[in-house]
Amino acid sequence: MSGRTSRLPGFYKLSIDERLKIVSDFAELTEEEVSTLKKEGNLPLEVADRMIENVVGTMAYPFAVAVNFLINGKDYLVPMVLEEPSVVAAASHAAKLIRESGGIKTTSTGPVMIGQVQVVGLEDPFYAKMLVYEHKQEILNLANEQDPILVKLGGGAKDLDIRVVDSPKGPMLVVHLIVDVRDAMGANAVNTMCEAVAPLIERITGGRVYLRILSNLADKRLVRAWCKVKKDVIGGEEVVDGIVLAWAFAAADPYRAATHNKGIMNGIIAVALATGQDHRAIEAGAHAYAARSGQYTSLSTWEKDENGDLVVTLELPMQVCIVGGAVRTHPVAKIALKILGVKTATELAEVMGAVGLAQNLAALRALATEGIQKGHMRLHARNLAVMAGAKGELIDKVVAIMVKEGKIRFDRAKELVEQLSKQEGSS
Ligand code: NAD
Repeated sequence: MSGRTSRLPGFYKLSIDERLKIVSDFAELTEEEVSTLKKEGNLPLEVADRMIENVVGTMAYPFAVAVNFLINGKDYLVPMVLEEPSVVAAASHAAKLIRESGGIKTTSTGPVMIGQVQVVGLEDPFYAKMLVYEHKQEILNLANEQDPILVKLGGGAKDLDIRVVDSPKGPMLVVHLIVDVRDAMGANAVNTMCEAVAPLIERITGGRVYLRILSNLADKRLVRAWCKVKKDVIGGEEVVDGIVLAWAFAAADPYRAATHNKGIMNGIIAVALATGQDHRAIEAGAHAYAARSGQYTSLSTWEKDENGDLVVTLELPMQVCIVGGAVRTHPVAKIALKILGVKTATELAEVMGAVGLAQNLAALRALATEGIQKGHMRLHARNLAVMAGAKGELIDKVVAIMVKEGKIRFDRAKELVEQLSKQEGSS
């Protein structure tokens, strides 16, 4: 099973070492590269091997903690995992500004997910819709039989929402199973319920069921966050006006809105990674929600109140858990949740909404004042200096020169490292 082919039957059945040997032969990895991939950090290889398929190693990312967060009157240290410089600093700084005006407030709709059952081949979809409503309790009971634990915890299938969707292949009946998933993300629980009720829905409607899966447009699992930032704290009324204008641009223009919302997701996804969430689900839900009117727009709104202070609101779906998924298998995710101190998935969702709001403030403030590039470039310069081989105090020296010269490039970092190391060596 070696040589340069990617056709590797049974690859998944091999041990990590056997897989790694094949990959190493394929890509001509050095011994050092192989041992870097295999190096055990805080995710043991045997745990990684049980999490996903075809594992050949693990990869560590920086784990940081954003400070200064005051949410609903409670102090939080916010664990963040990501590769992008300046996000954690920006979140902490924004949280400090918001804290001075009372902190962030949040609320949410509760942990309610939607499962979809697609019914096709119906002559009379509108009548079929009523027939399904007629059997609502029977369907909910059957769904709830699939997850007695969830029901015992007060969750479970609670309602139906049924639509006739006009598709390129004609009208289809789409049955939404509305499920309270408590502290779970809910994907497996909801999918199981959808699969279980499908034959009953076929019998009721006489149609044929195809897809049975949850929707990541979790618009019944919304988190709302808001805060006020006093004009003096943010740099005066001119800055407030600039920020409101920056938001108006995002509200009106999808090209800007994509980047505006990316700034919000910088914080949210970093917390999602630290706490072992399905971050693709959160991203998908956020962007689908941002496009719910038919035009993609900003997830947040920014206004100036009668005193000239900045007031901001954010609303988006947040499908997160403190049970299930990777939360209980990744040892670091468990620690991240302990640092956060959240007791329920809903509390976690609200904290993540608050972090998104702070991140949004940081980005808009920077954009509306000095421009975002300044802070970014300093951090970028640091990365370049380290990549060029600088260590200890030399890093700061190289950064200072590059920033002063306005030449933040790898070739210049390398030149400076060589030059300054020589000087140090001769002195
Ligand atoms: P899960 O199947 O482990 O569900 C949690 C289960 O734990 C519940 O069904 C319940 O019976 C039990 N439970 C115990 N204590 C609970 C509590 N306090 N609150 C709620 N439930 C409790 O996991 P899940 O969260 O249903 O599934 C999430 C996983 O599915 C994620 O890894 C996700 O990546 C994956 N997934 C996602 C999608 C998608 O988003 N489209 C699709 C398929 C799978």
